[in-house]
Amino acid sequence: MTDQRTPPPSSSTTSIRANATSDAILPLLPSRLSQLAYWLAAQVVNGLLIAVFWALLAVVLLLLGCEWPNAIGYGFLLAFFGSFAFRALVVHSLGPTWTRRIPGLTSYAPSIEQPVSGTESFREAVETVVFVVVLVLLLKSFVAEAFVIPTGSMAETLLGYQKMITCPSCGHRFPVNASREVERSRNGHTTFIHGCTCPNCRLRINLLRPEEIERRPPQDRASILDPGYVLPEWVPAIIRFFTNGPRSGDRVLVSKYPYDLPGSKPQRFDVVVFKFPGDDQDGPFPSTGPFKDQVPINYIKRLIGLPGETIAIHRGKLFVLPPELSPKYPEDEQARQDPSKAIQMWRSRGKDWLHHNDERARALFDQGKFQILRKPADVVLAMRRLVYDNDHPAKDLSGPEHVRWLAPAEGGWTENAPKREFLFSGSPETRWLRYRHVLREAGGKPQLITDFMGYNSNVPNDSGEPGENWATDLILECQVQADQAEGKLVLEVSRGPSRFQAEFDFAANSCTLYRLRDGEKPESLGTAATPALARGSVTLRLANVDDRLLVWVNNKLPFGQGVEYPVSSRLAPTTHNDLDRPASVGASGGRFTVRHLKLYRDTYYTVNSSLPDVSSHGLEGFQVSNPATFANWSRAPIGTYYVQPGHYLCLGDNSVASSDGRTWGLVPERLMLGRAVMVYFPFTRFGPIR
Ligand SMILES: [Zn+2]
Repeated sequence: MTDQRTPPPSSSTTSIRANATSDAILPLLPSRLSQLAYWLAAQVVNGLLIAVFWALLAVVLLLLGCEWPNAIGYGFLLAFFGSFAFRALVVHSLGPTWTRRIPGLTSYAPSIEQPVSGTESFREAVETVVFVVVLVLLLKSFVAEAFVIPTGSMAETLLGYQKMITCPSCGHRFPVNASREVERSRNGHTTFIHGCTCPNCRLRINLLRPEEIERRPPQDRASILDPGYVLPEWVPAIIRFFTNGPRSGDRVLVSKYPYDLPGSKPQRFDVVVFKFPGDDQDGPFPSTGPFKDQVPINYIKRLIGLPGETIAIHRGKLFVLPPELSPKYPEDEQARQDPSKAIQMWRSRGKDWLHHNDERARALFDQGKFQILRKPADVVLAMRRLVYDNDHPAKDLSGPEHVRWLAPAEGGWTENAPKREFLFSGSPETRWLRYRHVLREAGGKPQLITDFMGYNSNVPNDSGEPGENWATDLILECQVQADQAEGKLVLEVSRGPSRFQAEFDFAANSCTLYRLRDGEKPESLGTAATPALARGSVTLRLANVDDRLLVWVNNKLPFGQGVEYPVSSRLAPTTHNDLDRPASVGASGGRFTVRHLKLYRDTYYTVNSSLPDVSSHGLEGFQVSNPATFANWSRAPIGTYYVQPGHYLCLGDNSVASSDGRTWGLVPERLMLGRAVMVYFPFTRFGPIR
């Protein structure tokens, strides 16, 4: 750092003569400018050296078995910090002979070799340290703060302590909640997470310790080495430090300034960090909240309810009643007269400030006064969860009863199984590839698509159930290659009595949306130009989420934030759509190749914070594979929550395993710290948060 901040000395004649090019140009420049030029040249050389060093380290780390984002990330850190020693090494050890060959370093070298007085270098070191400390404090107070995700309540948008599992049958990689193992091991009572279920092929996987894996019978393909085991206490600490253990939670950067600026408020669907208001004992915050090392714990959730609104949760979806329509409560007037009362209105127990399931709010919900909350397109992508990835079929399952994507008997589509491709060879009528949700051990009997999530499948499990609620909102994507500029390709997803289609016309380069209802003519919901289809190879995605259709063509949104449609509040699954054809790909006219077929579902919000909706009163008889019980779904529970003025309702994305506003209440505005903007560590998870 010292050498960067020391300006080079006035150019000496010897150093300029060492290089003919510099001779020609630099003496013409004023002395200050030539110094700057030398200094800049030296920085460029340094930068190049760091880059080369970085690349070498990344290759070494890759060879050592690091994943590539980690190799690049750690390589950069090592190269950057190593470069401080590295530069001195270059200039001092290799000496003037080497440095003279690089223009810039020629004049730069003497500045380092020049003796610097002890007091001066000490002063500079102190200045640098003070500068860095002040900068970090300023950043921390006003701009951004780092934060570790401790639990799985935001999974799989953000991960807490987890084990990363690669399914031994289908090869799908997924995280499994391991917070319980970490928390318990800190308290000295380690309970290992020793099992999980692959969300893609539903294989039940056993996680074995190193000493157990040797005793595994060779035919046991479902048992693998635990990728994140904690070593026992007798192993030396240094070895325990370097073995992985469960992976630490995502580290996120929290931007603070948006909420500090006057007039700038937290926005709905922001991922927010706030101080936990406290538990239900007497006394104001923070004397009652949970603490860790004398510091009140910060929470991270998604902001759902704004001040004055009433929020409802029903069949996995969120609904809102705006403040002007929300029922009024006696404390509204009290808080207006005495603002100090308003800061206490977060508690859920004792006094129910949420007015959970207030009769007037329930009546307004039944009258259809609530509107569904529609997530922006980027949040839809962040909150989608995998149903089936056709690129990862289960190796241990064969036979027609396990086929998920079924080509029609009447022809048109053929499967190239080794390449995981479907080829459409031309037919004037539309022919359909159909998805069937036939799970392992179901004997080929399809069931409804549910909110099952691999993250919650940890064994043992004392928080949420993996969840088996009917996931109504599906997202279908694939890559399509058209041989010619002709023909039509249709993505279709079903829900209850309706099917929804995005029809891509490769001759007209356009997309038309349709809604098809039993016994009615197809209803067009709009057409948009999609010029990217002309390229022949495109990635297409259709999402039927929050009573609205969204389309992506190569990650562009031809319909913007989508086309909304009205829906009846009493929705129930149907056999002919939700069991027989929940998702389909149709084609007519041209010749197409379809690859990378992936089916997702939207995040499902449960009414209870630790139980699936299907276990609630009124839905007991509902079974995902028994059509005779499907009508019961219209009795899915409803939860309403009033958001007091000056407060927010915040919910976790992992709804069935999230301690959030539904349980403990509201977040007062003054406790909002900021918006989580990006994950910066682990490097495999680096990226913005939506
Ligand atoms: Zn699998």
